[in-house]
Amino acid sequence: MNPLNLRIGEGWDVHALVPGRRLVLGGVEIAHTHGLLGHSDADVLLHAITDAVLGAAGLGDIGRHFPDNDPQFRGADSFRLLQQVMEQVGQQGWRLVNLDSTIVAQAPRLSVHMPAIVARVAACLAVSTAQVNVKAKTAERLGPVGQGHSIAARAVVLLMRD
Ligand code: MG
Repeated sequence: MNPLNLRIGEGWDVHALVPGRRLVLGGVEIAHTHGLLGHSDADVLLHAITDAVLGAAGLGDIGRHFPDNDPQFRGADSFRLLQQVMEQVGQQGWRLVNLDSTIVAQAPRLSVHMPAIVARVAACLAVSTAQVNVKAKTAERLGPVGQGHSIAARAVVLLMRD
């Protein structure tokens, strides 16, 4: 295989965790006392994945495609935004080989939600759940994430084309 037809991308995101907002992670709404603050639905995991896909395809970053000062993206469904990005990279011949990702959150506990998150992310990417891995860990009570002020996520994707 031509190595130029295999591309890796990474993405990272963080959002503040505040009262009075929905908590949406990987397209799954999770019951919690706090939610993530942002111009869109603030789905930190999908934003990290979107940046990883865009990075692998050499298409810049999420802010370039969906500016957070653009009123049309206020309250935007990050699931739809990632679907749009997948359509765009698909038009350039790219297919996703696999995704690995990590949510860093002190609370809530995410292990019980993980099957739903993986299924929803796979549906968004139009791939099988075997191609999607989502890990969750705490920040050992260290820093803003560990103190419960924010949730962060990172993602790595591999794209290929024939
Ligand atoms: Mg974001």
